[in-house]
Amino acid sequence: MPTMPENKSERIAALADQCVQCGLCLPACPTYALDGNEAESPRGRIAIAAALAQGRAPVTDELREPLDHCLACLNCERVCPAQVHFGELLVETRALLGPAPRRPRALLALAKRPGLLRLMRLAGWRRWYARLARWLPQRSGWRAALALAALPPPPRLRPGPAVTPCTPALARVALFPGCVASVEDAAAQQAAVTLLEAAGHTVMRLPAFCCGALDTHGGDTQAAARATGRVQEAWRAGGASALVTVTPGCIGQLRGALPGVRVEDPYALLVARADHLHFRPLHQRVALHLPCTQLNVARSGEALLTLLGRVPGLEVVALPPRCCGAAGSHLLEFPERAAALRAPLIEAIASLAPQALLSSNIGCRLHLATGLAEQDEAVPTLHPLVLLAQHIVPGHTS
Ligand code: SF4
Ligand code: SF4
Repeated sequence: MPTMPENKSERIAALADQCVQCGLCLPACPTYALDGNEAESPRGRIAIAAALAQGRAPVTDELREPLDHCLACLNCERVCPAQVHFGELLVETRALLGPAPRRPRALLALAKRPGLLRLMRLAGWRRWYARLARWLPQRSGWRAALALAALPPPPRLRPGPAVTPCTPALARVALFPGCVASVEDAAAQQAAVTLLEAAGHTVMRLPAFCCGALDTHGGDTQAAARATGRVQEAWRAGGASALVTVTPGCIGQLRGALPGVRVEDPYALLVARADHLHFRPLHQRVALHLPCTQLNVARSGEALLTLLGRVPGLEVVALPPRCCGAAGSHLLEFPERAAALRAPLIEAIASLAPQALLSSNIGCRLHLATGLAEQDEAVPTLHPLVLLAQHIVPGHTS
């Protein structure tokens, strides 16, 4: 058993001590719903973390696995009456245990290299990914990654209408592009710039690199610390007064790296200027998936619904607020569990027969798109910001 640094162990024990074991978090936990097993519940994980940190139990595969399975969705933290800081407890425990044996290091290294991801998206290669994926076992992370890479390339955002920004300009905002999102969600980043400028902000883009969330949640503290240093350096060079990202999954990590800095997704800034943004009608029904990090960390679900509500004719049906199973690297580490967690959402989307599926988190959106493709459901997926930017009316912002 690895020796636990005392201060870390004490912190985990103190966090675990806040749990009164009421069990009110259990119905909110997706893995408890999947397994029906106390060890796969928040309360069970807290007990395991405390036992490991205090040396009351050895680190065995059996005890470690429920911690590795945790989606870090923070649904438990949202409903906990004792306000247990489950997210912190999980991060500290994973840091003590170190990266999981099943952590797909090569795949994650690739995911953090935007240049290589762009290369992988070369059109002629996609059919080979799909064929290759079929030969790999269901539980292979490479099979899951190839299925994502075989999806059609992300849409390009049509050149936006010439929107006249209001004067005087509001805050200077830095846009953090991230790693996977900088390639797969390039249209959403362009859309964010269009909308924020229309709302009166000046936007500058930071360089594209990983924020470190994948490493933090995987227990790789050294890699996470390097990413934090890079974020701080880029932020200082930017000279902005707020940081935005179109990926809610990055927000918690960026907030941790930049204490005292306003870190938001663009909806929070846009909704404050909603009366100044006008949109062309769109007579469609769209399904809206709200990622766990948008609900529990960014807390911008209401802001997004308000903005979408300003598009005349648009019917927005919010899907049940449940984790899709993507959860950062979870879909690569545990593809079968990720597919099982996704299944009810795919069913809900299919029964709605929407004309599009909106989701703000790139990992969730790709994971849902693969699930829809497997069921031959022809539902295009896009970032909500892309839909908003495509329908903004020029010249109505001041
Ligand atoms: S709701 Fe909070 S206090 Fe109750 S069991 Fe869950 S984590 Fe513990
Ligand atoms: S973070 Fe999510 S998956 Fe993990 S214990 Fe809490 S509710 Fe369950």
